[in-house]
Amino acid sequence: MEKDIILKAENIQKHFGLDAGFFAKKDKLVYAVNGVSLEIERGKTYGLVGESGCGKTTTARLLVGMYKADSGSIQFRGRNSQSPVEACALKKKELAAYREKVKYIFQDPSRSLNPRMTISTILTSPLKYSSLWQGKEHARQKAAELFEEIGLDKSDLDRRPQEFSGGQRQRISIARGLILEPELLICDEIVSALDVSVQAQILNLLQNLRKKRGLSFLFIAHDLKVSCYFCDTIGVMYRGMIVEESEAKNLYRDALHPYTQTLFAGGNFHIEKSGEMKTLLEHPSSCPFAHRCPKAREKCLCEIPPLEHISENHKVRCFFPNETQDKPKV
Ligand code: ATP
Repeated sequence: MEKDIILKAENIQKHFGLDAGFFAKKDKLVYAVNGVSLEIERGKTYGLVGESGCGKTTTARLLVGMYKADSGSIQFRGRNSQSPVEACALKKKELAAYREKVKYIFQDPSRSLNPRMTISTILTSPLKYSSLWQGKEHARQKAAELFEEIGLDKSDLDRRPQEFSGGQRQRISIARGLILEPELLICDEIVSALDVSVQAQILNLLQNLRKKRGLSFLFIAHDLKVSCYFCDTIGVMYRGMIVEESEAKNLYRDALHPYTQTLFAGGNFHIEKSGEMKTLLEHPSSCPFAHRCPKAREKCLCEIPPLEHISENHKVRCFFPNETQDKPKV
């Protein structure tokens, strides 16, 4: 059966100039995203996982249209549309309509929720500038219904963000993301800062919302085990590239890329920050993991391995995938 794809990114790239600040290095680039391709199935959750600085947030911001890709294509097909739109080519007004359908939920609600506004204003203000605006009373009613749906009491709508706990603030962020009735939610590390029990409550809430509203998710996280529990498909990202992609339920058993294996082993490389930056400042021309891989050979240092199918739902970016079965020592 053919898959129903809501969003398809093909070979997207984003490089930032390093020309700001006193110690600016003119003409230097940060190679943040280097040819990412992924497909999100309608009604499913795609988990993008990797350590800090690997390009997850930049990828998310490209998909939602907050950054413009240097190259590549992002195709989005809404529920009622026959053919997909090319998100990279949208004009200002079309982009605003696209952003109603694809919403980004920020990592840190304490920074993204304005402390001077009441929850009611926070929830209703996106409506004001959208095609769904039907007056103040309707907006307030919609906010109240949504507030209850995310497990909070509508009598608290006139309180301010700082009067809520971290988990409740994250629920409010989710509600704000939902007010425009999007089809795809991009959740960027939204549970990472929460206690394990609160994390589980937020993940349950997302699962319920997904079923009830037929939502699709891009779930960004650095915790591979949590992501495997929550997602349908996992893309493991390293230095701006997806190095392995698989059905979440099989990844623990079938992981072939040494980086994925190390993440499962709880590996923490403690890479020197300066060393990490140096390679992000170099044009990618080798396997992104070669300098850390215990099994790297000369070929890995000279060429970028393609992301190739190992089986129908499993792809690996490694020249020697079948030789990486032993877990690397961390
Ligand atoms: P984290 O989990 O810490 O947010 P991440 O995996 O989301 O990390 P990104 O935030 O996408 O990674 O950053 C990827 C690289 O791009 C990093 O080296 C970062 O410093 C750099 N970067 C991101 N945004 C910019 C920018 N606006 N200008 C310059 N460099 C940037």
